[in-house]
Amino acid sequence: MNALAETAELRNDLDLPAKDARHVLHPWADLQALGSDRPVVMNSAKGVRVKDSEGTTYLDAIGGMWCMTVGYGCEELADAIGDQARQMAYYTSFGDVSNEPAAQLAEKLAELSPGDLNRVHFTTGGSTAVESAVRIAHYYFAAQGKPEKRHVLSRVNAYHGGTYLTQSLSGKAADKTHFHYETEFIHHLSSPGHDPDRDPLSAEARLTELLDEMEAEIQRLGPENVACFVAEPILASGGVLTPPKGYQKATLELCRKHGILYVSDEVVTGFGRLGHFFASEARFGIVPDMIITAKGITSGYQPLGAVLVSDRIAETISKAAPSEKPVFSNGFTYSGHPVACAAALTNIKIMTRDDICGHVRDVGPYFMARLRELLDSPIVYTVRGDHLMACVECWTGEEAGPNDKNMALAARVDAYCQEAGLLVRPYENLCILSPPLVISRDDIDEIVGIMGSALTRAAADLE
Ligand code: PLP
Repeated sequence: MNALAETAELRNDLDLPAKDARHVLHPWADLQALGSDRPVVMNSAKGVRVKDSEGTTYLDAIGGMWCMTVGYGCEELADAIGDQARQMAYYTSFGDVSNEPAAQLAEKLAELSPGDLNRVHFTTGGSTAVESAVRIAHYYFAAQGKPEKRHVLSRVNAYHGGTYLTQSLSGKAADKTHFHYETEFIHHLSSPGHDPDRDPLSAEARLTELLDEMEAEIQRLGPENVACFVAEPILASGGVLTPPKGYQKATLELCRKHGILYVSDEVVTGFGRLGHFFASEARFGIVPDMIITAKGITSGYQPLGAVLVSDRIAETISKAAPSEKPVFSNGFTYSGHPVACAAALTNIKIMTRDDICGHVRDVGPYFMARLRELLDSPIVYTVRGDHLMACVECWTGEEAGPNDKNMALAARVDAYCQEAGLLVRPYENLCILSPPLVISRDDIDEIVGIMGSALTRAAADLE
């Protein structure tokens, strides 16, 4: 059987959900529920829609996993990947070896990033990039004879990845059940989200509270012991939580005052989701010491992550203790993978040529305004977000928050959406939305229409 016939046979395999259930140990899944449910096996995709192995098509309002920018089935991206795979599928970038797409992509990222973030450390995804940033911060201070400056500040509800260290940095308590995690040098500040519709405190009062807490924690640890602050500009997976206005700038100033490095985790907020390649400076007025990027960098077509590093940090770690001949021992087999870097270069080319960031700045406010119409539903507690990252928070009308009743309600809304051909992402009592950046106004109307009907059905079930 030739390869094409074999692929066609695989595509016609109606037993796929059963095979998957028997053999795949799914990441981030309720394994008990998966034991009895049939997983949905996705098979093909075009534009903003995906189709499963049984032929059902869905409008993908999750954008894969926050990562889809230019849309599915992009021939130009597929060609770039195929061409690079044919030319040179792989070579290491350890030591003094590089490859053409990696070198070109690094130059492009330096051009797109703010300030003097001109050096790029490639990784395999977001987690390995965040983890690398913490290691770079440790190396940076140790190289200056300050190994004790190693404590790391994060926030409750943050999400920074699925490795041991990044899961320790993350602040979602439920994810830590049955796992061990690092607690000795990682410290969580309060969740910084401020919802103007629902928060009893004003944005100004909340900001003061958060900054006072951060200053107090730095003093408790001793500024000379704190290496870095790792922060998503808007917390994504933790529930689309936007800090009060001025928070990013004020926390950066606190970090500068105490000689603490600021690591901006733009795995979700970068690559157009907030209408700019990077949101740190364009939206929040900060030039951090490091920016983390992944996901949208290749529009999800290839796994890739990167730490964008300031010239100052790069120079310091390059000069570390020459007498000890130190090696900067951080990297992965697939760091700077030529096929992934070629995908990223083409993705950037398409995003620039088609002004996808401009498109997001245009449709983003429309998306939020239309979603806010769902506030008319009695089971919507709040709608929050920014451009193309948003969530609808459900409640039964009794007590707000992620309690059993509200979570069951959100799961019902999610199921009704899926039944009607719309994928949203359930998390606790939230339905999270992060559509592909090429979403049109008509698609947005369809999303809001289906969600509206799902909310009406779920509300009727409560009566
Ligand atoms: N940082 C943020 C803000 C994320 O949302 C994620 C993933 O969702 C990560 C890091 C981890 O990225 P990855 O899953 O590519 O390792």
